Amino acid sequence: MADPAGASRAAPRVDVRRSRRRRKTVSAYRDGDTVVVLLPGRMSRADEQHWVAEMLRRLDRSEARRRSPGHASDEALLARCRELSRLYLGGRAQPASVRWVPAMRTRWGSATPAEQTIRISERLRDVPGWVVDYVLVHELAHLIVPGHGPKFWELVRAYRRTERAIGYLEGLSAAAGLKLDADQL
Ligand SMILES: [Zn+2]
Repeated sequence: MADPAGASRAAPRVDVRRSRRRRKTVSAYRDGDTVVVLLPGRMSRADEQHWVAEMLRRLDRSEARRRSPGHASDEALLARCRELSRLYLGGRAQPASVRWVPAMRTRWGSATPAEQTIRISERLRDVPGWVVDYVLVHELAHLIVPGHGPKFWELVRAYRRTERAIGYLEGLSAAAGLKLDADQL
């Protein structure tokens, strides 16, 4: 599946907060699917527009490279899964274990609902965190819904960068000469 640009690049929700105590500094962070932008209290509307756009661009750029907070260990991966389950699946997926496993030839990850376990390919250890998050949300959703029917995708697409991540994984698969399906994990 190609990355259908546009839909996947939809602007995130932005929550602009002004603070009187803040004089000059502008900062931004992501809270789930919302980007919170902190601005000085006295900034003009025109400056606000400029800075919100600028901070979204900077956040995208730095996130494009940042590795998953789960990359360090299996424990970190499990902690990331708990957070993603809470953010996107209402906490309904509660994996018993999540492990990094040696690169599987045919899969990026897999889930075993009967045992509530998830395995993630070491191949993903150094890819950007937002891509790993997609794979984790995908596998977490399988703990709730097996198969790839409409109900399954409805759950997964709560993660707004799903299409983009699928495009990224397809590119990675092609570049490495692998035959890994990004939407059939
Ligand atoms: Zn799947």
